[in-house]
Amino acid sequence: MNKKYSWSQVVQPDGIGSGNFTSLAGSVERASTVTFSNVKSLRTRNWQDKSQYSYGLLGTPTTRRLERKLALIEGGQQCILLPSGLAAISLVLLALLKSGDRVLLPHNTYEPASEVARFMQANYGVELAFYDPLDILSILMTANTKLLWVETPGSVTMEVSDLPALANLAHKNNALVAIDATWAAGIALDVFALGADISIQALTKYQSGGSDVMMGSIVTRDDVINLMLLETHVRLGLGVSPEDCNIVLRSLPHYKLRYQAQDLAAREVATWLSKHPSVMQLLHPAFLGSPGHEVWQRDFTGAASLFSVVFQPYITQLQIDACLDEMKLFRIGYSWGGAVSLVVPFEMNQLHAHHSYKGHLVRFYVGLEDAVDLIEDINQSFKSLM
Ligand SMILES: *Cc1c(COP(=O)(O)O)cnc(C)c1O
Repeated sequence: MNKKYSWSQVVQPDGIGSGNFTSLAGSVERASTVTFSNVKSLRTRNWQDKSQYSYGLLGTPTTRRLERKLALIEGGQQCILLPSGLAAISLVLLALLKSGDRVLLPHNTYEPASEVARFMQANYGVELAFYDPLDILSILMTANTKLLWVETPGSVTMEVSDLPALANLAHKNNALVAIDATWAAGIALDVFALGADISIQALTKYQSGGSDVMMGSIVTRDDVINLMLLETHVRLGLGVSPEDCNIVLRSLPHYKLRYQAQDLAAREVATWLSKHPSVMQLLHPAFLGSPGHEVWQRDFTGAASLFSVVFQPYITQLQIDACLDEMKLFRIGYSWGGAVSLVVPFEMNQLHAHHSYKGHLVRFYVGLEDAVDLIEDINQSFKSLM
């Protein structure tokens, strides 16, 4: 990782306090109306300049503090905040594609992202093609291909793709590269150094860390790309709550530690699962045999505590469902990144993964409980499978 910042900059307060009151806690600056000292300053205020303020929707000091820290973490220059990770995905697609343009998405992408692309194909004449994230040579670039979407590892099936090779291919054909890098969370993959133009994060996950905030971010390091995104952002009337930004700002200094600790715990749980006779395959990028493991080893500096397990084909969905119902610490639910461990069963036919597995799949999220307790919880729930 060759980012030119230290984590200390993420931890240190930025722009907090004024006059004879200074503290380490950020205040929540709320606004619809922003006042101007005179008419001239109202007329000359530039909404695109993030050192100025002109209307609540366009940001307050609280939202700007979060934007600066997120751009810093990812090694970018600009950041736009959105009310969810999905809104960040939609904004990138809407801002960069018009009728007649073509977008490439990997088969294994976050399913709601491919739904947005399908919507734009059906309603706005955007061409859409899916590619195999493990077979770059099979990708067909065309003159109208404007955007290559990357998500690595892919949602649920966890294939790791070769970002530098994908970026090289896109840039040779004058296409931009957007990456949904939520799994790496700005910590485990240096997306800009590896060739991405746009980085998307669901801050709903590790960055907020409490299973209580929905937010997304788009980080760039090019003024022209940023302006295209910013103009569409303003036209759609998108904004985020400064209260929510403050919650994320409070979690941000310790999310790297959580990420690293949860990575270790998840590898313990995954190791135990990989040895269980009911498990056919472990889909965790840090483990040998997981698709794209070699690329993970080359490009990543860590792993999220989110992975999947494919059960032996003779184990039925009913058996797996009963098993998940027996779990006490692992709760059943979507999303991840909070303190509590989670499981979700996925059916292969719900997924557009290129690599289909014969057995049923369960996605595990390891939270902050002790790994031994989590393993014991899985062990007791698996009794019915034996
Ligand atoms: C959760 C997630 C999203 C969507 O984020 P929300 O804030 O839930 O809308 C997008 N991409 C990936 C990879 C995710 O895990």
